[in-house]
Formats: sequence, structure tokens, C-alpha cells
Amino acid sequence: MKWVYALSCVRVRGSTYVYCIIGHPIAHSLSPVIHNTLFNMYNIDAIYVAFDVKPEKLREAINGIRSLNIKGCTVTIPHKERVIVLLDEVDPVAQKIGAVNTIKNENGKLIGYNTDVWGFLEPLTRFADALRGDSALLIGAGGAARAIVYALKTLGVGKLFIANRTKTRGKILEEYSLEIGLDAEYIGFDEKALNEKARKVKLIVNATPLGMHGIGGRVPITSNSIRSDTIVYDIVYNPVETPLLVEARKAGAKIITGVDMLIYQAMLAFKIWTGVHPEPDPLYDVVLKELKAK
Ligand code: NAP
Repeated sequence: MKWVYALSCVRVRGSTYVYCIIGHPIAHSLSPVIHNTLFNMYNIDAIYVAFDVKPEKLREAINGIRSLNIKGCTVTIPHKERVIVLLDEVDPVAQKIGAVNTIKNENGKLIGYNTDVWGFLEPLTRFADALRGDSALLIGAGGAARAIVYALKTLGVGKLFIANRTKTRGKILEEYSLEIGLDAEYIGFDEKALNEKARKVKLIVNATPLGMHGIGGRVPITSNSIRSDTIVYDIVYNPVETPLLVEARKAGAKIITGVDMLIYQAMLAFKIWTGVHPEPDPLYDVVLKELKAK
């Protein structure tokens, strides 16, 4: 079945609810395409728009959500951490991670959630048995990496190696991991150390923008260092097949793309807002089509 959901089909009325995403920059975001597709598909009288909000305007933007009765909001870089203190309530998982990527407006009360955790976990669950008690290598120590550490703890990963360019940030994530009960070790960002560890682990995750369209660079791990029984997960979604995933494919490893995470985190946000649990297949169609057009 071919899914085509043109925004031009949406009729905006006086009763139409507004949802949004805030971030800086924001023009590249695929969230409007995803959520407008879902509103259309499930016949919900709502529209989703993107707002470019600079860090110094975050408080005003959150007040705007209240005063304009915007029903729900996605929060992205650079606001995920700083938004927490501006909300009325924060879900315990988001609180533990220290980052919110989804806000629900419940009759004027703004409640924060973190759907990145589930978005990351869902495509990995089919490998849960293999990962339990085994080791993982996480590249990156930013906001997304923190949600990933929490997710890997819930999966029962036995040992985590953290590689990050900036030592202080890598050590802070190591500390966080130990705090929540996941044995972790910061290993620096040296190419040799990365490749050595890559050979030993069951899961490799890239949570840096390396390899992203417009950013470039690459994670310095080659196919020779990836075992065929390893799972390689790159959360960068543009391009779908990043340089790291190209290496993983050469090695015969299993791969998970950033598009998978993007779609599953959006599905949970949609469920939080509307109560509807959407199907992923139509979203793959629209996201891949949109990425091809970019
Ligand atoms: P962030 O908080 O800004 O963290 C960025 C991380 O990448 C830091 O660890 C940073 O290292 C590292 N990094 C940046 N540029 C680098 C470079 N040139 N070389 C080596 N390391 C570099 O960002 P984030 O929120 O964690 O997001 C990270 C990436 O994940 C972004 O590309 C984002 O688009 C993607 N993402 C995807 C999804 C999805 O649904 N697929 C969801 C969330 C995020 P330092 O500490 O040394 O600066």
C-alpha cells in the first residue's frame, strides 16, 4: 500500500489543535512530516509546526505554549536539559536522565517526558537476550548518549565502554552510568583504543553527529574491527546508511539506523499526546521519501 499524506490535505479550522517542535536550528527537522502524517492518518483535527527558538528565548517559548494552549511540544537540541525547570511536572524516567524531549499540555499543566529512551530501545529489543550481560561501546557523551546509557541499563548490558572526544564529558557520563548501576569505563577517543574495544563488544552505538549530512567526518572504526555477530547502531539518521553502518555492513554485522530511533521516539510522543499507538510502516515511507528529497 502506498501512503501519501500531503499537508495540503489538512484543513485548519478554528477548532484545530496546535502541536510543535522547538529547537535551534530546526529547519532540518523531520518531526513535522512525521506528526502531520499521523494526525492525517488518524483523522485528528491538529497541526504540527516547527519553531526556531534560541536558547535565551526558551522561557518565553514555554510560556507561549501555556498562553496559546499548544497541546504538545517536541524539544530538541539545545533545550532538552534546560527545559526541565520550566515545566510543572516531569516523568520519573526523564527526571532520572535529566532531559525532556516531549511535553504534554494537560489543561494548562506542562508535563515532560523522555521518549528517546524508548525510541532507542524498541529496535534493539529483538536482540535483548544476546545483549543481556554482554558489553557495549558507546561513542559520544552528550544528551542522547545519556538516554542511551539509561536504556542500556534497562536492557541488562553487563559492561559499557564510553568513548568521547572531551574527557570531562566522558567521565561525567561514566559517573552517571555507575550511579544508575551500569558498570562503565571511559576509554578516551583514540582510534586504536576504539578499534580494539569494537572487536570485543556485542553492541556499538554512535551517539555523535559524526557522519551526518552537512557535518561530515566519520567514526574511526573500520570493518576489520567489527565482528559479524555484533550489532551496530548509528543514531544519525541523515544519511540513513552512515559511514559507520557501511563498515558494519561490510563486516556482515547487524545494523540499526537512526531512522528507526527517530520513528519510534515520535510514535511514543504521539501516543502520549493522543492516546493512539501508531503503526511504524507508514512513517518509514514518509521519512525515507523525505530524506531522499533532501
Ligand atoms: P549533544 O548533546 O550536542 O552531544 C554531541 C556529542 O557528539 C558529544 O559527545 C560530542 O563530543 C560529540 N561530538 C560532536 N562533534 C564531534 C566531532 N566532530 N568529533 C567527535 N565527537 C563529536 O548532541 P545529542 O543530543 O547527544 O545528539 C547527538 C547526535 O544524535 C546528533 O547528531 C543528533 O542529531 C542525533 N540524535 C538522533 C536521534 C534519533 O532519533 N535518531 C535522537 C537524538 C539525537 P564532545 O563532548 O567532545 O563535544
